[in-house]
Amino acid sequence: MLLPRNGAEFKKWIVGSSKDVAGGYVPPGSPGTQGWIVIDTASSIGPGRTLLDNRAWLEHDIRHEFFHANTLPESDSAGNAPLWVTEGYAEWAGSTAIVVFPQTAPPPTLPVTNSEFAKVRATDAYAQSFMFVSYLVARFGQAAAIRFYKRSLEPAYGSTAASFAHVFKHDLASVEKGWSRQYKKQVAALDVDVYVK
Ligand SMILES: [Zn+2]
Repeated sequence: MLLPRNGAEFKKWIVGSSKDVAGGYVPPGSPGTQGWIVIDTASSIGPGRTLLDNRAWLEHDIRHEFFHANTLPESDSAGNAPLWVTEGYAEWAGSTAIVVFPQTAPPPTLPVTNSEFAKVRATDAYAQSFMFVSYLVARFGQAAAIRFYKRSLEPAYGSTAASFAHVFKHDLASVEKGWSRQYKKQVAALDVDVYVK
């Protein structure tokens, strides 16, 4: 894991890999070579404050990136899985210490396709995916949620929607509707002050 001294060093070390809001995972370049994690320690978390000024937030980001590193296939591709799956699960795993949530509640919709994911504010896309994955864990149990995650990474199982229906016995659209209904309650329960102070 690399902790760069400044933003320029972060850019250099992320080597063209896709970056998260405050970090990134660089997968192995070829089989047998090691991948690494870079945390964007200089990224701003408020006026005059960087990620290094908030230990819980820093630990959240480290957990998020380790989850990618430990679960994604040995290539920059997430196999079959769309971003809401790979980022939502990484946020869920990272959130033992802290929930990183935008100051303005994002709309109660899931960015199902990667183009939808890219269209909304980055912090919203991560939060929406996190909320939905947390809902899956609460409704179907952690074992089933993990089963779906692993299956969705593997192209041999077909589309994400097919894996979803296979594991959860409900289609994605109907489960998303159920989540949307609970969304307001979930947002109200989050203590956003934990990280905006
Ligand atoms: Zn990520």
